[in-house]
Amino acid sequence: TDPYLKVEDLRVSFPTEDGVVRAVDGVSFSVERGRTLGIVGESGSGKSVTSLSVMGLHNRKKTKVEGRILLGGEDLLSLSDEQVRRKRGRDMSMIFQDPLSALHPFYTVGRQIVEAYRVHHNVSKAQARTRAIEMLDRVGIPKPDKRFDQYPHEFSGGMRQRAMIAMSLINDPDLVIADEPTTALDVTVQAQILDLLEDLQREFNSAIVIITHDLGVVSQIADEVLVMYAGRVAEFGTAEQVLRGPQHPYAWGLLSSVPSLHGNADEDLLPIKGNPPSLINVPPGCAFNPRCRYAMLDPGPCDTEVPQLLPLALTDEPGHKVACHLPERQRKETYENDIASV
Ligand code: SF4
Ligand code: MG
Repeated sequence: TDPYLKVEDLRVSFPTEDGVVRAVDGVSFSVERGRTLGIVGESGSGKSVTSLSVMGLHNRKKTKVEGRILLGGEDLLSLSDEQVRRKRGRDMSMIFQDPLSALHPFYTVGRQIVEAYRVHHNVSKAQARTRAIEMLDRVGIPKPDKRFDQYPHEFSGGMRQRAMIAMSLINDPDLVIADEPTTALDVTVQAQILDLLEDLQREFNSAIVIITHDLGVVSQIADEVLVMYAGRVAEFGTAEQVLRGPQHPYAWGLLSSVPSLHGNADEDLLPIKGNPPSLINVPPGCAFNPRCRYAMLDPGPCDTEVPQLLPLALTDEPGHKVACHLPERQRKETYENDIASV
């Protein structure tokens, strides 16, 4: 089947007092209905900007967005603000990290869900109320008819996130983007919310993009994974490929910091030193080179040539791609030796 969302060579930049920020620099990916793509990276990797651009929620006056964002075959970048606004909430919707900032504190939760529904459906308030209560029930909120009349602050964090999910899904969108949807929640509630998203996806058959810095979240919910660094794609593959056989030194660092994925409790095996680069002055060549313990410099390609995102050549891993100058054979040996030595 054709992917519902197809992003091609997305470039997003905006001016600041200190210079032009290149937040996203040539990112491509696609997501089919019924599939979940995890976009992983630290803050400043461009992952949130990518999702805001897809939703048309970037600052349209200041921000330059180039490339193509095809939603059901239609390029969102060729539409007017008004046309994108009509799609938002109906064809695509967003779940934010902090529902308190997405829900209005002065209105009841029920009223806000009703409004989200009535923007796109010509129904009476009573009909919308019935539908909203059904959705609250569906996302696991007990006593939904009572909860309907409560204010966001009367909900726990987990219940608020459920209400936010009810609001996002009430119009049955084909694309849902969830930006760090569980980051503010404790581990148990986090797992429940991810389970809920998986159940709902089976029911609604939407394409989901989940933005996270947390590979534990990815391992629980994603089918495919895109690892972003400094506005570019460092690695792409199925969740299995990336979690079991990561190829990019940045991905090695990320993975080694998730104890549940490598078995050594509380140990960061290959810590990534330093901080992500400023997106105003991205290092030449591979943007990761100042932090990479395997960088080939002086002479070497790592600080002179931007590595292309290329499929693995030696192993039969269809779809698995990496942007790193290390020769593939050496990459695998290096990683396995390093993991074995700590
Ligand atoms: Fe490290 Fe060079 Fe690979 Fe970048 S291209 S991740 S600097 S080895
Ligand atoms: Mg973010």
